[in-house]
Amino acid sequence: MFSKLLIANRGEIACRIIKTARRLGIKTVAVYSEADRDALHVDMADEAVPIGPAQATQSYLDIAKIVNAAKATGAEAIHPGYGFLSENPDFARALDKAGVVFAGPNVKAIEAMGDKIQSKKLAAKAKVSTVPGHLGVIKDAKEAVKIAEEIGYPVMIKASAGGGGKGMRIAYSRKEVEEGFGSSKSEAKSSFGDDRVFIEKYIEEPRHIEIQVLGDKHGNVIHLGERECSIQRRNQKVVEEAPSPLIDAKTREAMGAQAVSLARAVGYDSAGTVEFIVDRDRNFYFLEMNTRLQVEHPVTELVTGLDLVEEMLKVAAGEKLSIKQKDVRLAGSAIETRIYAEDPTRNFLPSTGRLVRYKPPPLGTEGGITTRLDSGVEEGGEISVYYDPMIAKLITHAPKRLTAIEHMGNALDAFAIDGFRHNIPFLAVLMRNERWREGSLSTKFIAEEFPEGFKPPRPKGEVRDVLVAIAASIDHLSNQRRRAITQQMHGEPVRFAEIRIVELVEERVRVTMEGGLDGPLSVVLGGEGTGGKKRKINLATDWWFGVPVFEGMINSKPVAVQVRPILNGYHLTYQGVEVAARVFTERETELMAKMPVKVRPDTSKYLLCPMPGLVVSLNVSEGQEVVAGDALCVVEAMKMENVLKAERDAKVAKVLAKPGDSLNVDAVILEFA
Ligand code: ADP
Ligand code: ADP
Ligand code: MG
Repeated sequence: MFSKLLIANRGEIACRIIKTARRLGIKTVAVYSEADRDALHVDMADEAVPIGPAQATQSYLDIAKIVNAAKATGAEAIHPGYGFLSENPDFARALDKAGVVFAGPNVKAIEAMGDKIQSKKLAAKAKVSTVPGHLGVIKDAKEAVKIAEEIGYPVMIKASAGGGGKGMRIAYSRKEVEEGFGSSKSEAKSSFGDDRVFIEKYIEEPRHIEIQVLGDKHGNVIHLGERECSIQRRNQKVVEEAPSPLIDAKTREAMGAQAVSLARAVGYDSAGTVEFIVDRDRNFYFLEMNTRLQVEHPVTELVTGLDLVEEMLKVAAGEKLSIKQKDVRLAGSAIETRIYAEDPTRNFLPSTGRLVRYKPPPLGTEGGITTRLDSGVEEGGEISVYYDPMIAKLITHAPKRLTAIEHMGNALDAFAIDGFRHNIPFLAVLMRNERWREGSLSTKFIAEEFPEGFKPPRPKGEVRDVLVAIAASIDHLSNQRRRAITQQMHGEPVRFAEIRIVELVEERVRVTMEGGLDGPLSVVLGGEGTGGKKRKINLATDWWFGVPVFEGMINSKPVAVQVRPILNGYHLTYQGVEVAARVFTERETELMAKMPVKVRPDTSKYLLCPMPGLVVSLNVSEGQEVVAGDALCVVEAMKMENVLKAERDAKVAKVLAKPGDSLNVDAVILEFA
């Protein structure tokens, strides 16, 4: 085994690799860009080497700098993680030349599988079922249309060098092929420096199911079952699970056999993933092979009990696989949610900022349920525009799928992250979604379940009652605490009425408090005209002032609610519901009615910049009439080009930004008449 390993990556995956290396007694070397000087992976490694500016092309993607860092520190091997140089054959070759071991597959396998056109050809040869399509480079839009019409609509236009969901477009008509061909080609060019695109049949309502394979340098190849990753937005995975609720033992065996056959065909000798799309009838078609560790590998680790990074390091060091196919056991069910710095209410646009608060839920194994966090950040750290906006992965494992889902829901509720927008509210809602719980999935799931985009749900029923009870209890505790302060001036003792009115959105609920500081607490809601029928809620909690998450039992069920103080109340988040809950005495409520109401400005006449970004182009000019859906402006953020479209028919009155402008969120780009 190696004695020193360099990790050519950053964020959660670098941290995750360091953990295994440390357990195996291997010393670790981190590399970092200027933007990552204070990053967690740098802290965790035994040594760290600076490799240049924030831009990945000048640091994490710079082969020479990384090879030099390995040489300078005496690292014998490099683990590339995912993304960056992980699937770059030039990198693997450069390491070979420098005499450093690449903890990944051999160069030939990377090359063969790195190109979607070539890998599909190889797969067909290895008797793997592939998506019907045209296996050649397409010259121009005219040829694209011809081929699309031969295959039959809908089709998918894809970058041969593509990855991470980039450079692909669905087309249902001639017009969409023409448009998609151009945009796919230019996105491929800017993302991968390779503008070759091809076309295949678009499989409707498919499920994304992939097989984890593992090979060594002695010709052994096994598979570790499947993962389902159908919950995607913009063709990028958000939630993954193992096993798939769709797959039966027979299909698993068939897919596994094809994946192993493809891996053997290229002499695969590391951990890798063969991706398939699967239709309703469990017909499966090969999509691509990823010749690296996958983001979602933890779900496989939790159901198999293996450590995939350990296996990768061992086979890289020349050891034989420690297990045979017949020894692979799949136990229980694991779910992974990817926590992104992005705004789910704004079509998942990236968000940036400082992690003002970062408090993960309780981790570890208890009562047969495991909660794992793979994270690359710490409180105080910064989410910059330079890298992927994924900040952590939360994984749960339980004997049954629904238990793992329930537990994930609670863990997400208890995860406190402040400083920028993130997708936890969205994930928390998803965990309570009936269709997800039933497991009837497709890659269109998000689009179908949230047709108008994600809006935080309004508080109703039990969720509303929990929020009211918590707001009232905190207010009650704080009043009692104030009363209990010693050394107060003598005089008339302060008296607090125990009846409160909790205002939640536009609703008012009357509550009566019982119990207090050192005992159980009960809240009686409603009755006497405000907030519906009378009902009683019992709370048990250790919560204390200043803690951002109110955790406890409510009517004997575990709950976790995010609590942030605001004027006269608390901003609360629970199961994706985000509300301001204000607590008043009855007299205050009477007086409130006399207060003037502040009117919010009407911004419907403006096109506002939805995220901090750079104006790439403006597609309209002053005086122009636009119809709903027209592209108005292109803004680049997080290396993604975002097309801002007209929400309704309108006339452009003023153009207030120009290409090259760097805009803040909510900056005005256009004014409509
Ligand atoms: P997985 O299939 O492991 O879930 P994704 O497709 O979501 O992986 O991509 C994993 C990460 O790697 C993402 O950060 C993505 O941006 C990056 N990535 C994937 N393929 C490439 C590639 N060919 N070039 C650059 N980055 C890539
Ligand atoms: P990447 O390298 O970017 O991960 P993939 O080929 O793996 O690209 O595709 C990513 C996602 O796009 C898949 O998970 C699937 O949801 C969707 N997709 C890709 N090809 C097709 C297709 N032919 N039909 C339907 N969906 C597809
Ligand atoms: Mg893929």
